Amino acid sequence: MAKVPEFFGSMVFNDQKMQERLPKATYKALKKTIQNGEPLDLSVANVVASAMKDWAVEKGCTHYTHWFQPMTGITAEKHDSFISPSGEGQIIMEFSGKELVKGEPDASSFPSGGIRATFEARGYTTWDPTSYAFVKDSTLYIPTAFCSYTGEVLDKKTPLLRSMERISTEAVKVLNLIGKTEISRVITTVGPEQEYFLIDKEIYDQREDLIYTGRTLFGAKAPKGQELDDHYFGAIKTRVAEYMKDLDEELWKLGILAKTKHNEVAPSQHELAPIFSTTNIATDHNELTMEIMKKTAEKHGLVCLLHEKPFAGVNGSGKHNNWSISTNTGENLLDPGKQPENNIQFQLFLAAIVKAVHEYQDLLRISVASSGNDHRLGANEAPPSIISMYLGDDLGALVDSIIDGTEYVSKGRTRMMTGVDVLPDFKKDTSDRNRTSPFAFTGNKFEFRALGSSLNIACPNIMLNTIVAQSLSEFYDELKDASDIDAAVKELIKKTFTEHKDIIFNGNNYADEWVEEAEKRGLLNLKSLPDAVAHYIDQKNIDLFVKNRIYNVEEIHARYEIELENYAKEINIEALTMIDMAKKNILPSVTSYVRELTDTALAKKALSDVIPTTVEEELILSLSNKLVCFAKKTTELEEAVIKAGDYSSNGLAYAKYFRETVFALMQELRAIGDSMETETSSEYWPYPSYGEMLFGV
Ligand code: ADP
Ligand code: MG
Repeated sequence: MAKVPEFFGSMVFNDQKMQERLPKATYKALKKTIQNGEPLDLSVANVVASAMKDWAVEKGCTHYTHWFQPMTGITAEKHDSFISPSGEGQIIMEFSGKELVKGEPDASSFPSGGIRATFEARGYTTWDPTSYAFVKDSTLYIPTAFCSYTGEVLDKKTPLLRSMERISTEAVKVLNLIGKTEISRVITTVGPEQEYFLIDKEIYDQREDLIYTGRTLFGAKAPKGQELDDHYFGAIKTRVAEYMKDLDEELWKLGILAKTKHNEVAPSQHELAPIFSTTNIATDHNELTMEIMKKTAEKHGLVCLLHEKPFAGVNGSGKHNNWSISTNTGENLLDPGKQPENNIQFQLFLAAIVKAVHEYQDLLRISVASSGNDHRLGANEAPPSIISMYLGDDLGALVDSIIDGTEYVSKGRTRMMTGVDVLPDFKKDTSDRNRTSPFAFTGNKFEFRALGSSLNIACPNIMLNTIVAQSLSEFYDELKDASDIDAAVKELIKKTFTEHKDIIFNGNNYADEWVEEAEKRGLLNLKSLPDAVAHYIDQKNIDLFVKNRIYNVEEIHARYEIELENYAKEINIEALTMIDMAKKNILPSVTSYVRELTDTALAKKALSDVIPTTVEEELILSLSNKLVCFAKKTTELEEAVIKAGDYSSNGLAYAKYFRETVFALMQELRAIGDSMETETSSEYWPYPSYGEMLFGV
């Protein structure tokens, strides 16, 4: 096996390869586009395309694809081969600048939220030169943005790139105003920590709920769950370790900076974290990571579950979006430095974020809403549905002192004395962790922790970048005409913290008191996707997106409709799967078991009436009663699903109906099913148990 530095990025047409393979002038022109966002000439694209193709063909590629992120929740690709006829039945391998820059996948089958009727099927993909092309499965992958013929954005990359531009523009204006004239560009960086479950493929294949919906819809608890905390950071099992090693190597080849891996809280649950990178690269890489995680699992006879809540009763999976802002001069704007009390620039950016999170808490909540994440938020395993910010004791005290106008002396970083000679003493971080906060300051970045594991991180980052850009643009307007800029900045910081301090909460977010306290503070508590998404089209949010040119009014409405429709569809599939499992497998299996019990009891009685049959009779009675309830609930659920059609003309009402009626019935049906499972012989129960799934690897 080659050494890691040798194969790292070997499948990526990265800067090094561009430098090697492109003529100097072409390389320079492309670099300008990548770094400064300058438009690219078609003649340059032609040269790049040809070099890319030669490199890809050397890697064994026959095809290329424009890889994009439509509103489906996964990535999409359409493959074209490089072949081109060259007369006399011959072919050559060809790839033009035009093919690199523009693709035309049929857009009609992707969600568009009613933007475009199906007869207007044309859609375009455009090359995103800021994200490197790569080779996977003998195909050259070109990261692209996706829009409709009429120009409406139909993907997640375009608004993300727009939001990155916005925050850069506004941050640079503010920085230049306060004297940092050398700064010309600001980038947001993201490091997404990814949680996942690994289960045995043979067991997975026997569960239609996992196959169709990614989560178990029935399943009684195993005798053991996560109560001993013995899985978290525990020694990694051999089979899992082999998987992780393989996964790391696959990711490294694709230039993905996979760094940390460990076991998570729930049995069979694990985590992978990369080193952070620019937001759009981090997004592309996280999408790829999720895909490679699934693929690599197959090679090991495993299945990787990325659903937010595959198993009831143990923790579900999330994703932590570590987010920061840095300048083209290499400065992290969220680094408080040694003396945050004297770091006015840091305070100003902190204030901008506090204001943004307070004013647009709904958008942050919306950005992490999904049917899967509804199972986690507020369930004391993930942050609550209430968005608040954690700053830690030190920064919290600093903000208080700014509001009160009192003096603040930084405690600085104290040393940790281990008290053991052989163990080195070390400097402690200035703040402890608060694992319960949805949006926590962690040293030099914010960690947005409310994301679900399967989410495309573009969504929360579009929101973060846009809302902070908005704060900064308002700051700029307030400061631009100030005669004494230093005094004006200080005053603005104080005013902002004072107005928005209610969003800061350093306590336990899982406590019931917080729910009450948050309500008193006027913070939103949007418990489910329909509750949250309803706010998407609030006027203040439409104004925000339109003003910052992230979406136009039509595009916002489209996204609103798509979110609601997807949600309804997902629950609909879950309900249909449950009905199928109930009718075709659970009911017949339990009935057979009851028949066997009855046969046994009758046989015993026939033999002699002194042989006790109480065990059989009690089970027969209990299971027979439950079977009646179970069958009745199944019918109710079937009827509820049919009735859903009555609401389908109104997206919000439709989604709410699925949440309040269909989902509620599913819970009831599950409860009866799970209780039957605990009484039914495992020989008869048609599905592998929680124990087998969670402890089967
Ligand atoms: P923890 O589990 O303590 O949250 P990890 O080390 O697992 O910490 O993950 C921290 C993540 O934060 C990593 O992906 C890391 O690269 C990322 N990170 C660190 N600094 C920054 C930064 N300036 N911007 C964005 N992400 C960052
Ligand atoms: Mg973390």
